[in-house]
Amino acid sequence: MKHTKIIDLLSGKGLLHEVKAKGWVKTFRNNQFIALNDGSTINNLQCVIDLDKFPAEQLKKIHTGAAISVRGTLIESKGAGQSVEIQVEHLKIYGEANPEEFPIQPKKHSLEFLRENAHLRIRTNVFGAIMRVRSTLAFAVHKYFQENGFFYFNAPIITGSDAEGAGEMFRVTALDLNNLPKDEEGKVDVREDFFGKTTNLTVSGQLEAETYAMALGSVYTFGPTFRAENSNTSRHLAEFWMIEPEVAFINLDENMDLAEDFIKYVIRYTLDKCKDDLVFLDKRLTEEEKNKPQAERSDMSLLNKLNFVLDNNFKRVSYTEAIDILKGSKPNRNKKFKYLIEDWGADLQSEHERYLVEKHFKCPVILFDYPADIKAFYMRMNEDGKTVRAMDILFPGIGEIVGGSQREERYDVLLEKIRTMGIDEKELWWYLDTRKFGTAPHSGFGLGFERLVLFVTGMTNIRDVIPFPRTPQNAEF
Ligand code: ATP
Ligand code: MN
Repeated sequence: MKHTKIIDLLSGKGLLHEVKAKGWVKTFRNNQFIALNDGSTINNLQCVIDLDKFPAEQLKKIHTGAAISVRGTLIESKGAGQSVEIQVEHLKIYGEANPEEFPIQPKKHSLEFLRENAHLRIRTNVFGAIMRVRSTLAFAVHKYFQENGFFYFNAPIITGSDAEGAGEMFRVTALDLNNLPKDEEGKVDVREDFFGKTTNLTVSGQLEAETYAMALGSVYTFGPTFRAENSNTSRHLAEFWMIEPEVAFINLDENMDLAEDFIKYVIRYTLDKCKDDLVFLDKRLTEEEKNKPQAERSDMSLLNKLNFVLDNNFKRVSYTEAIDILKGSKPNRNKKFKYLIEDWGADLQSEHERYLVEKHFKCPVILFDYPADIKAFYMRMNEDGKTVRAMDILFPGIGEIVGGSQREERYDVLLEKIRTMGIDEKELWWYLDTRKFGTAPHSGFGLGFERLVLFVTGMTNIRDVIPFPRTPQNAEF
Protein backbone atom coordinates (compact mmCIF):
# COMPACT_ATOMS: atom_id res chain seq x y z
CA MET A 1 0.00 0.00 0.00
CA LYS A 2 1.34 3.45 -0.94
CA HIS A 3 1.55 6.10 1.70
CA THR A 4 -0.18 9.46 1.39
CA LYS A 5 1.38 12.84 2.14
CA ILE A 6 0.17 14.28 5.42
CA ILE A 7 -0.84 17.52 3.72
CA ASP A 8 -3.32 15.50 1.64
CA LEU A 9 -4.60 13.45 4.56
CA LEU A 10 -5.24 16.64 6.54
CA SER A 11 -7.31 18.00 3.70
CA GLY A 12 -9.52 14.92 3.99
CA LYS A 13 -8.11 12.67 1.30
CA GLY A 14 -8.90 9.04 2.22
CA LEU A 15 -11.37 9.94 4.97
CA LEU A 16 -13.01 6.80 6.42
CA HIS A 17 -10.63 4.62 4.46
CA GLU A 18 -7.51 2.75 5.35
CA VAL A 19 -4.50 5.00 4.74
CA LYS A 20 -0.79 4.90 5.36
CA ALA A 21 1.40 7.80 6.49
CA LYS A 22 5.14 8.01 7.00
CA GLY A 23 7.11 10.67 8.78
CA TRP A 24 9.02 11.72 11.87
CA VAL A 25 7.58 11.83 15.34
CA LYS A 26 7.19 15.34 16.75
CA THR A 27 5.80 14.28 20.11
CA PHE A 28 4.34 11.20 21.75
CA ARG A 29 1.83 12.09 24.48
CA ASN A 30 0.37 9.81 27.14
CA ASN A 31 1.54 6.70 25.30
CA GLN A 32 -1.44 7.35 23.07
CA PHE A 33 -1.07 10.30 20.70
CA ILE A 34 1.72 10.62 18.15
CA ALA A 35 2.06 13.93 16.37
CA LEU A 36 3.54 12.90 13.03
CA ASN A 37 5.14 15.23 10.49
CA ASP A 38 6.45 14.33 7.04
CA GLY A 39 7.61 17.78 5.92
CA SER A 40 4.78 18.26 3.42
CA THR A 41 3.17 20.82 5.72
CA ILE A 42 3.83 22.48 9.04
CA ASN A 43 0.77 20.70 10.44
CA ASN A 44 1.07 17.31 12.12
CA LEU A 45 -1.11 14.28 11.71
CA GLN A 46 -2.48 12.97 14.99
CA CYS A 47 -1.99 9.20 15.20
CA VAL A 48 -4.03 7.51 17.89
CA ILE A 49 -2.50 4.40 19.42
CA ASP A 50 -4.49 1.77 21.26
CA LEU A 51 -2.07 0.75 24.01
CA ASP A 52 -3.27 -2.84 24.19
CA LYS A 53 -2.70 -3.48 20.53
CA PHE A 54 1.05 -2.86 20.52
CA PRO A 55 3.86 -4.42 22.52
CA ALA A 56 5.30 -2.10 25.14
CA GLU A 57 8.75 -2.82 23.71
CA GLN A 58 7.74 -1.22 20.43
CA LEU A 59 6.06 1.82 21.98
CA LYS A 60 9.18 2.50 24.03
CA LYS A 61 11.05 3.19 20.81
CA ILE A 62 8.79 6.05 19.81
CA HIS A 63 10.54 9.30 20.62
CA THR A 64 10.76 12.74 19.10
CA GLY A 65 12.67 12.39 15.86
CA ALA A 66 12.02 8.71 15.18
CA ALA A 67 10.98 7.76 11.64
CA ILE A 68 7.85 5.65 11.51
CA SER A 69 5.11 4.34 9.26
CA VAL A 70 1.51 4.05 10.43
CA ARG A 71 -1.46 2.40 8.80
CA GLY A 72 -5.07 2.64 9.89
CA THR A 73 -8.39 4.31 9.30
CA LEU A 74 -8.56 8.06 8.78
CA ILE A 75 -11.44 9.40 10.84
CA GLU A 76 -12.80 12.77 11.83
CA SER A 77 -11.14 13.92 15.01
CA LYS A 78 -13.05 14.71 18.16
CA GLY A 79 -10.07 16.41 19.71
CA ALA A 80 -9.44 20.11 19.42
CA GLY A 81 -6.78 21.36 17.05
CA GLN A 82 -7.15 18.94 14.17
CA SER A 83 -9.86 17.91 11.73
CA VAL A 84 -8.83 14.29 11.14
CA GLU A 85 -6.74 11.66 12.86
CA ILE A 86 -5.60 8.18 12.09
CA GLN A 87 -6.65 5.21 14.22
CA VAL A 88 -3.45 3.22 14.05
CA GLU A 89 -3.69 -0.50 13.34
CA HIS A 90 -0.17 -1.16 12.12
CA LEU A 91 2.97 0.56 13.24
CA LYS A 92 6.47 0.25 11.89
CA ILE A 93 9.57 1.95 13.23
CA TYR A 94 12.26 2.72 10.66
CA GLY A 95 14.75 4.55 12.79
CA GLU A 96 14.82 5.49 16.43
CA ALA A 97 16.14 8.77 17.82
CA ASN A 98 17.66 8.33 21.24
CA PRO A 99 16.40 11.27 23.34
CA GLU A 100 19.69 11.31 25.26
CA GLU A 101 21.50 12.10 22.02
CA PHE A 102 19.09 13.64 19.51
CA PRO A 103 19.66 17.39 19.82
CA ILE A 104 16.24 18.48 18.55
CA GLN A 105 13.91 17.99 21.49
CA PRO A 106 10.38 19.38 21.84
CA LYS A 107 11.45 22.59 23.56
CA LYS A 108 12.68 25.99 22.47
CA HIS A 109 16.16 25.92 20.96
CA SER A 110 18.12 29.08 20.21
CA LEU A 111 18.80 29.89 16.57
CA GLU A 112 22.54 29.90 17.39
CA PHE A 113 22.32 26.35 18.71
CA LEU A 114 20.37 25.27 15.64
CA ARG A 115 22.96 26.85 13.32
CA GLU A 116 25.55 24.51 14.82
CA ASN A 117 23.21 21.66 13.97
CA ALA A 118 22.27 22.85 10.50
CA HIS A 119 21.90 19.26 9.31
CA LEU A 120 19.16 18.63 11.85
CA ARG A 121 17.60 22.07 12.28
CA ILE A 122 15.37 21.39 9.30
CA ARG A 123 13.51 18.96 11.61
CA THR A 124 12.17 21.94 13.58
CA ASN A 125 8.91 23.71 12.77
CA VAL A 126 10.60 27.02 12.13
CA PHE A 127 13.16 25.73 9.63
CA GLY A 128 10.58 23.54 7.92
CA ALA A 129 8.47 26.66 7.41
CA ILE A 130 11.41 28.81 6.22
CA MET A 131 12.63 26.27 3.69
CA ARG A 132 9.18 25.58 2.27
CA VAL A 133 8.74 29.33 1.85
CA ARG A 134 12.18 29.55 0.22
CA SER A 135 11.29 26.79 -2.23
CA THR A 136 7.99 28.44 -3.10
CA LEU A 137 9.66 31.82 -3.62
CA ALA A 138 12.19 30.20 -5.97
CA PHE A 139 9.40 28.66 -7.99
CA ALA A 140 7.59 32.02 -8.12
CA VAL A 141 10.76 33.66 -9.46
CA HIS A 142 10.86 31.29 -12.42
CA LYS A 143 7.10 31.47 -12.89
CA TYR A 144 7.10 35.25 -13.07
CA PHE A 145 9.86 35.47 -15.63
CA GLN A 146 8.72 32.51 -17.71
CA GLU A 147 5.22 33.96 -17.90
CA ASN A 148 6.55 37.37 -18.90
CA GLY A 149 8.66 36.41 -21.89
CA PHE A 150 12.04 36.04 -20.17
CA PHE A 151 14.52 33.26 -20.91
CA TYR A 152 16.49 31.56 -18.14
CA PHE A 153 20.17 32.22 -18.73
CA ASN A 154 22.88 30.27 -16.88
CA ALA A 155 25.87 32.49 -16.22
CA PRO A 156 29.21 30.76 -15.76
CA ILE A 157 30.21 30.05 -12.15
CA ILE A 158 33.92 30.16 -12.92
CA THR A 159 34.80 33.45 -14.48
CA GLY A 160 37.89 34.78 -16.17
CA SER A 161 36.78 38.38 -15.89
CA ASP A 162 37.68 40.26 -12.75
CA ALA A 163 36.52 43.61 -13.97
CA GLU A 164 33.08 43.84 -12.45
CA GLY A 165 34.29 44.85 -9.05
CA ALA A 166 31.06 43.90 -7.29
CA GLY A 167 32.98 42.35 -4.43
CA GLU A 168 36.05 40.49 -3.26
CA MET A 169 36.53 37.26 -5.18
CA PHE A 170 37.35 33.65 -4.41
CA ARG A 171 40.24 32.43 -6.49
CA VAL A 172 39.78 29.18 -8.43
CA THR A 173 42.93 27.21 -9.01
CA ALA A 174 44.11 23.67 -9.67
CA LEU A 175 47.72 24.51 -8.80
CA ASP A 176 49.48 22.66 -6.00
CA LEU A 177 49.65 25.37 -3.36
CA ASN A 178 52.67 23.67 -1.79
CA ASN A 179 54.57 23.67 -5.03
CA LEU A 180 53.63 26.72 -7.06
CA PRO A 181 55.15 27.24 -10.51
CA LYS A 182 56.99 30.57 -10.75
CA ASP A 183 57.63 32.84 -13.72
CA GLU A 184 60.81 34.75 -14.56
CA GLU A 185 59.99 37.42 -11.98
CA GLY A 186 59.36 34.89 -9.24
CA LYS A 187 55.59 35.42 -9.29
CA VAL A 188 53.08 32.56 -9.48
CA ASP A 189 52.89 31.51 -13.12
CA VAL A 190 49.18 31.37 -13.86
CA ARG A 191 49.87 30.17 -17.40
CA GLU A 192 50.54 26.80 -15.77
CA ASP A 193 47.16 26.79 -14.04
CA PHE A 194 44.15 24.84 -15.33
CA PHE A 195 42.74 27.64 -17.47
CA GLY A 196 46.08 29.23 -18.28
CA LYS A 197 44.97 32.42 -16.54
CA THR A 198 43.60 33.73 -13.27
CA THR A 199 40.06 32.58 -12.61
CA ASN A 200 37.56 33.29 -9.86
CA LEU A 201 34.11 32.34 -8.68
CA THR A 202 31.53 34.72 -10.12
CA VAL A 203 30.42 37.76 -8.11
CA SER A 204 27.62 38.52 -10.59
CA GLY A 205 26.36 37.13 -13.87
CA GLN A 206 25.38 40.54 -15.17
CA LEU A 207 28.04 41.21 -17.78
CA GLU A 208 27.46 37.83 -19.39
CA ALA A 209 23.68 38.23 -19.10
CA GLU A 210 23.94 41.52 -21.02
CA THR A 211 25.38 39.69 -24.02
CA TYR A 212 22.32 37.42 -24.01
CA ALA A 213 19.82 40.24 -23.54
CA MET A 214 21.34 41.71 -26.69
CA ALA A 215 19.94 38.77 -28.65
CA LEU A 216 17.13 37.14 -26.67
CA GLY A 217 15.64 40.44 -25.51
CA SER A 218 14.71 39.53 -21.93
CA VAL A 219 16.76 37.11 -19.83
CA TYR A 220 17.26 36.33 -16.15
CA THR A 221 19.84 34.48 -14.12
CA PHE A 222 19.08 32.69 -10.89
CA GLY A 223 22.12 31.01 -9.47
CA PRO A 224 24.83 30.95 -6.85
CA THR A 225 27.12 33.96 -6.44
CA PHE A 226 30.26 34.22 -4.34
CA ARG A 227 31.81 37.13 -2.51
CA ALA A 228 34.77 36.87 -0.20
CA GLU A 229 33.63 39.91 1.74
CA ASN A 230 34.87 39.76 5.24
CA SER A 231 31.81 41.52 6.52
CA ASN A 232 30.36 39.50 9.33
CA THR A 233 26.89 40.99 9.16
CA SER A 234 23.43 39.49 9.41
CA ARG A 235 22.83 40.35 5.74
CA HIS A 236 25.95 39.02 3.99
CA LEU A 237 26.86 35.50 2.94
CA ALA A 238 29.99 34.35 1.13
CA GLU A 239 27.78 32.15 -1.07
CA PHE A 240 24.34 33.46 -1.93
CA TRP A 241 21.80 33.16 -4.71
CA MET A 242 21.18 36.08 -6.97
CA ILE A 243 18.42 36.81 -9.46
CA GLU A 244 19.51 39.08 -12.30
CA PRO A 245 17.08 40.06 -15.02
CA GLU A 246 18.53 41.93 -17.99
CA VAL A 247 16.26 43.51 -20.59
CA ALA A 248 16.91 45.11 -23.96
CA PHE A 249 15.16 48.34 -24.91
CA ILE A 250 14.07 49.40 -21.42
CA ASN A 251 15.20 52.46 -19.48
CA LEU A 252 15.68 52.96 -15.75
CA ASP A 253 12.05 53.85 -15.06
CA GLU A 254 10.85 50.69 -16.75
CA ASN A 255 13.53 48.78 -14.85
CA MET A 256 12.05 50.10 -11.57
CA ASP A 257 8.57 49.11 -12.72
CA LEU A 258 9.84 45.61 -13.48
CA ALA A 259 11.56 45.23 -10.10
CA GLU A 260 8.52 46.44 -8.19
CA ASP A 261 6.09 44.28 -10.13
CA PHE A 262 8.36 41.25 -9.78
CA ILE A 263 8.84 41.59 -6.02
CA LYS A 264 5.12 42.08 -5.45
CA TYR A 265 4.30 39.08 -7.61
CA VAL A 266 6.57 36.64 -5.78
CA ILE A 267 5.41 37.85 -2.37
CA ARG A 268 1.74 37.59 -3.37
CA TYR A 269 2.28 34.10 -4.80
CA THR A 270 4.01 32.93 -1.64
CA LEU A 271 1.42 34.49 0.66
CA ASP A 272 -1.16 32.50 -1.21
CA LYS A 273 0.72 29.17 -1.34
CA CYS A 274 2.37 29.15 2.09
CA LYS A 275 -0.43 30.43 4.32
CA ASP A 276 0.12 27.99 7.18
CA ASP A 277 3.88 28.49 7.22
CA LEU A 278 3.56 32.27 7.13
CA VAL A 279 0.96 32.30 9.88
CA PHE A 280 3.40 30.26 11.96
CA LEU A 281 6.32 32.58 11.16
CA ASP A 282 4.12 35.58 11.92
CA LYS A 283 3.46 34.21 15.42
CA ARG A 284 7.13 33.36 15.88
CA LEU A 285 8.16 36.92 15.09
CA THR A 286 5.54 38.41 17.39
CA GLU A 287 6.81 36.16 20.21
CA GLU A 288 10.41 37.11 19.51
CA GLU A 289 9.62 40.80 19.46
CA LYS A 290 8.21 40.54 22.97
CA ASN A 291 11.78 40.07 24.20
CA LYS A 292 12.84 43.38 22.68
CA PRO A 293 12.56 46.80 24.27
CA GLN A 294 9.37 48.59 23.20
CA ALA A 295 11.26 51.09 21.05
CA GLU A 296 12.80 48.37 18.90
CA ARG A 297 9.60 46.47 18.28
CA SER A 298 8.07 46.69 14.88
CA ASP A 299 4.61 48.21 14.77
CA MET A 300 3.47 45.68 12.17
CA SER A 301 3.22 41.91 12.27
CA LEU A 302 4.91 39.88 9.53
CA LEU A 303 1.69 39.31 7.57
CA ASN A 304 0.81 42.99 7.86
CA LYS A 305 4.25 43.93 6.57
CA LEU A 306 3.91 41.64 3.58
CA ASN A 307 0.48 42.96 2.75
CA PHE A 308 1.68 46.51 3.23
CA VAL A 309 4.33 45.97 0.54
CA LEU A 310 1.70 44.60 -1.83
CA ASP A 311 -0.71 47.46 -1.24
CA ASN A 312 1.67 50.41 -1.51
CA ASN A 313 3.80 51.90 -4.23
CA PHE A 314 7.51 51.89 -3.58
CA LYS A 315 8.61 55.47 -2.93
CA ARG A 316 10.96 56.68 -5.69
CA VAL A 317 13.50 59.21 -4.46
CA SER A 318 16.63 60.58 -6.10
CA TYR A 319 19.96 60.24 -4.34
CA THR A 320 20.16 64.03 -4.15
CA GLU A 321 16.80 64.28 -2.36
CA ALA A 322 17.84 61.47 -0.03
CA ILE A 323 21.03 63.30 0.92
CA ASP A 324 19.02 66.42 1.76
CA ILE A 325 16.69 64.38 3.97
CA LEU A 326 19.60 62.67 5.70
CA LYS A 327 21.56 65.87 6.22
CA GLY A 328 18.65 67.44 8.05
CA SER A 329 17.70 64.28 9.94
CA LYS A 330 17.77 64.08 13.73
CA PRO A 331 20.42 61.32 13.98
CA ASN A 332 22.67 63.34 11.66
CA ARG A 333 22.22 66.60 13.59
CA ASN A 334 22.68 64.80 16.91
CA LYS A 335 25.71 62.93 15.58
CA LYS A 336 23.99 59.59 16.18
CA PHE A 337 25.01 58.15 12.80
CA LYS A 338 28.34 56.36 12.80
CA TYR A 339 29.04 57.96 9.41
CA LEU A 340 27.75 61.53 9.38
CA ILE A 341 26.33 62.84 6.12
CA GLU A 342 28.06 66.06 5.24
CA ASP A 343 28.36 66.41 1.50
CA TRP A 344 26.70 65.31 -1.66
CA GLY A 345 28.63 62.34 -2.99
CA ALA A 346 28.80 60.36 0.23
CA ASP A 347 28.19 56.63 -0.08
CA LEU A 348 25.14 55.60 1.90
CA GLN A 349 25.72 53.15 4.73
CA SER A 350 23.11 50.72 5.92
CA GLU A 351 22.29 53.00 8.89
CA HIS A 352 21.28 55.72 6.39
CA GLU A 353 19.31 53.34 4.20
CA ARG A 354 17.45 52.03 7.20
CA TYR A 355 16.70 55.52 8.46
CA LEU A 356 15.14 56.45 5.12
CA VAL A 357 13.04 53.30 4.92
CA GLU A 358 12.11 52.68 8.53
CA LYS A 359 11.95 56.15 10.03
CA HIS A 360 11.39 58.64 7.24
CA PHE A 361 9.32 57.04 4.46
CA LYS A 362 8.12 53.95 6.35
CA CYS A 363 7.77 51.99 3.11
CA PRO A 364 10.03 50.39 0.49
CA VAL A 365 12.13 53.04 -1.22
CA ILE A 366 13.80 53.13 -4.63
CA LEU A 367 16.79 55.47 -4.66
CA PHE A 368 18.01 56.48 -8.10
CA ASP A 369 20.55 58.69 -9.92
CA TYR A 370 23.58 58.09 -7.73
CA PRO A 371 26.92 59.91 -8.03
CA ALA A 372 28.93 58.24 -10.77
CA ASP A 373 31.97 58.04 -8.50
CA ILE A 374 30.43 55.55 -6.08
CA LYS A 375 28.90 53.26 -8.69
CA ALA A 376 30.12 50.69 -11.21
CA PHE A 377 31.64 51.53 -14.60
CA TYR A 378 28.78 50.15 -16.70
CA MET A 379 26.03 52.46 -15.45
CA ARG A 380 24.63 55.00 -17.87
CA MET A 381 25.87 58.56 -17.42
CA ASN A 382 23.18 61.23 -17.01
CA GLU A 383 23.14 64.54 -18.88
CA ASP A 384 24.48 66.29 -15.76
CA GLY A 385 27.77 64.43 -16.19
CA LYS A 386 27.99 63.54 -12.52
CA THR A 387 25.21 61.08 -11.77
CA VAL A 388 24.44 57.69 -13.27
CA ARG A 389 21.18 55.87 -13.92
CA ALA A 390 21.53 53.57 -10.95
CA MET A 391 18.83 52.40 -8.57
CA ASP A 392 18.84 50.59 -5.24
CA ILE A 393 15.70 49.23 -3.64
CA LEU A 394 15.67 49.48 0.13
CA PHE A 395 13.41 47.37 2.34
CA PRO A 396 12.45 47.77 5.98
CA GLY A 397 14.55 45.56 8.25
CA ILE A 398 16.78 44.57 5.36
CA GLY A 399 18.29 47.66 3.76
CA GLU A 400 19.39 47.09 0.19
CA ILE A 401 17.55 44.23 -1.48
CA VAL A 402 18.07 45.22 -5.13
CA GLY A 403 20.87 47.00 -6.97
CA GLY A 404 20.39 47.83 -10.62
CA SER A 405 20.89 50.33 -13.41
CA GLN A 406 20.37 51.34 -16.96
CA ARG A 407 23.58 50.28 -18.69
CA GLU A 408 25.86 52.59 -20.65
CA GLU A 409 25.15 51.56 -24.22
CA ARG A 410 27.32 54.23 -25.95
CA TYR A 411 30.59 52.66 -26.96
CA ASP A 412 32.73 55.80 -26.67
CA VAL A 413 31.31 56.86 -23.34
CA LEU A 414 31.78 53.36 -21.92
CA LEU A 415 35.35 53.02 -23.17
CA GLU A 416 36.25 56.41 -21.75
CA LYS A 417 34.76 55.39 -18.39
CA ILE A 418 36.65 52.09 -18.34
CA ARG A 419 39.89 53.95 -18.97
CA THR A 420 39.36 56.64 -16.36
CA MET A 421 38.48 54.00 -13.78
CA GLY A 422 41.73 52.22 -14.52
CA ILE A 423 40.05 48.99 -15.62
CA ASP A 424 41.93 46.79 -18.10
CA GLU A 425 39.95 47.26 -21.34
CA LYS A 426 41.57 44.16 -22.89
CA GLU A 427 39.82 42.05 -20.26
CA LEU A 428 36.49 43.45 -21.40
CA TRP A 429 36.90 43.07 -25.19
CA TRP A 430 33.85 40.82 -25.44
CA TYR A 431 31.74 43.16 -23.31
CA LEU A 432 32.73 46.14 -25.45
CA ASP A 433 31.72 44.17 -28.54
CA THR A 434 28.07 44.34 -27.41
CA ARG A 435 28.37 48.13 -27.76
CA LYS A 436 30.10 47.89 -31.11
CA PHE A 437 27.59 45.61 -32.78
CA GLY A 438 23.91 46.44 -32.54
CA THR A 439 24.09 48.29 -29.26
CA ALA A 440 20.80 49.42 -27.70
CA PRO A 441 19.53 50.89 -24.46
CA HIS A 442 19.09 48.16 -21.84
CA SER A 443 18.70 47.77 -18.11
CA GLY A 444 18.70 45.18 -15.36
CA PHE A 445 19.12 44.56 -11.68
CA GLY A 446 20.35 42.05 -9.14
CA LEU A 447 18.23 40.85 -6.26
CA GLY A 448 19.78 38.84 -3.44
CA PHE A 449 17.48 35.87 -3.03
CA GLU A 450 18.31 35.35 0.66
CA ARG A 451 17.48 38.97 1.45
CA LEU A 452 14.07 38.37 -0.12
CA VAL A 453 13.63 35.17 1.93
CA LEU A 454 14.66 37.14 5.05
CA PHE A 455 11.98 39.69 4.38
CA VAL A 456 9.22 37.20 3.62
CA THR A 457 9.95 34.92 6.59
CA GLY A 458 10.56 37.73 9.08
CA MET A 459 13.85 36.15 10.12
CA THR A 460 16.62 38.52 11.11
CA ASN A 461 19.84 36.65 10.30
CA ILE A 462 20.66 35.64 6.73
CA ARG A 463 22.34 32.48 8.08
CA ASP A 464 18.88 31.18 8.93
CA VAL A 465 17.35 31.37 5.46
CA ILE A 466 19.86 29.30 3.46
CA PRO A 467 20.34 25.58 4.25
CA PHE A 468 24.09 25.56 4.86
CA PRO A 469 25.41 29.11 5.21
CA ARG A 470 28.95 29.98 4.17
CA THR A 471 30.40 32.88 6.13
CA PRO A 472 33.90 33.90 7.23
CA GLN A 473 35.49 31.05 9.20
CA ASN A 474 32.52 28.79 8.61
CA ALA A 475 32.05 26.15 5.92
CA GLU A 476 30.87 23.25 8.10
CA PHE A 477 28.72 20.56 6.44
P1 ATP B 1 25.66 45.50 0.03
O1 ATP B 1 25.96 46.97 -0.04
O2 ATP B 1 24.47 45.16 0.89
O3 ATP B 1 26.87 44.67 0.33
P2 ATP B 1 26.03 45.42 -2.78
O4 ATP B 1 25.88 46.83 -3.13
O5 ATP B 1 27.40 44.82 -2.67
O6 ATP B 1 25.22 45.09 -1.44
P3 ATP B 1 25.15 44.43 -5.36
O7 ATP B 1 26.55 44.22 -5.84
O8 ATP B 1 24.35 45.52 -5.95
O9 ATP B 1 25.14 44.54 -3.78
O10 ATP B 1 24.36 43.03 -5.47
C1 ATP B 1 22.97 42.95 -5.77
C2 ATP B 1 22.19 42.37 -4.62
O11 ATP B 1 22.77 41.14 -4.15
C3 ATP B 1 22.15 43.23 -3.39
O12 ATP B 1 21.15 44.22 -3.51
C4 ATP B 1 21.83 42.24 -2.31
O13 ATP B 1 20.43 41.94 -2.29
C5 ATP B 1 22.53 41.01 -2.76
N1 ATP B 1 23.83 40.82 -2.08
C6 ATP B 1 24.99 41.46 -2.31
N2 ATP B 1 25.99 40.98 -1.56
C7 ATP B 1 25.45 39.98 -0.83
C8 ATP B 1 25.97 39.07 0.14
N3 ATP B 1 27.26 39.08 0.48
N4 ATP B 1 25.13 38.17 0.69
C9 ATP B 1 23.83 38.13 0.34
N5 ATP B 1 23.28 38.95 -0.57
C10 ATP B 1 24.07 39.87 -1.15
MN1 MN C 1 28.43 44.16 -0.97
